[in-house]
Amino acid sequence: MTSTLPYDTHTHTPLCKHAEGEPEAYAEAALRRGMKGIFVTCHNPMPDGWSPNVRMAPEEFGAYLALVARAKQAMSGRVEVRLGLECDYFPGAEPWLEKQIASAPLEYVLGSVHSHISAYKQAFFRGDMQAYRALYFDHLARAAESKLFDCLAHPDLVKNQDAESWNPESVLDDIRRALDRIAKTGVAMEVNTSGLNKFCEEIFPGPLILREIGARGIPVTVGSDAHKPERIGADFDLALKALAAAGIESVSYFFERRRTEFRINPDAITA
Ligand SMILES: [Zn+2]
Ligand SMILES: [Zn+2]
Repeated sequence: MTSTLPYDTHTHTPLCKHAEGEPEAYAEAALRRGMKGIFVTCHNPMPDGWSPNVRMAPEEFGAYLALVARAKQAMSGRVEVRLGLECDYFPGAEPWLEKQIASAPLEYVLGSVHSHISAYKQAFFRGDMQAYRALYFDHLARAAESKLFDCLAHPDLVKNQDAESWNPESVLDDIRRALDRIAKTGVAMEVNTSGLNKFCEEIFPGPLILREIGARGIPVTVGSDAHKPERIGADFDLALKALAAAGIESVSYFFERRRTEFRINPDAITA
């Protein structure tokens, strides 16, 4: 199936220990879907003890840069392979991240509050899920305010924990306060189709939050969060429908960390 969006902005590599396929295979998948390219955004190295089993080790960062450079070279002239990074954010991580981000020629940097990993839970979960959700959205706004990132990944990821009791209306005041702060920073937010395959069975973010994002004019990106090549561009048709329903008419891409807007062709949105 052909994709109506030119890039998949969120993809992984085997270096994070829970994804399969070399970047070349993801790029081939994009080519087959008629896309212009992919952004490789694997999980960044973090300080000791921060979920080392789901990310590359600090000493592997050079190998990551080399891996993406190799794929870029191999696919040159056929499909674009662009260097990105998905960074875990928590308050206090800023100095580590600042140094890391400055050390590589990254085109696109995602900031992620990974509320499901044990290190984050240990630091911030105090037994009350509603309070945890509210804190998550505060951290998301802090991530934007840190100015380290181009975009916030899977913005309502916290809904995937205890998905049955998730109701965005019940934390809407916290969400709105966070979105007001994010809108002031100019940082983009991601429409991430991987949520459809998780407990929450819904795109990150859901329709209510996406409408609030649209109403504030916050730029949006679209990514599959592919952890295997066949998920490149997955459910982008549903992402386009969700964007249309939220009144959002364009998506953003970051090249060399500068934002470009791409207008969605309304004919591409299938009923
Ligand atoms: Zn993530
Ligand atoms: Zn990811």
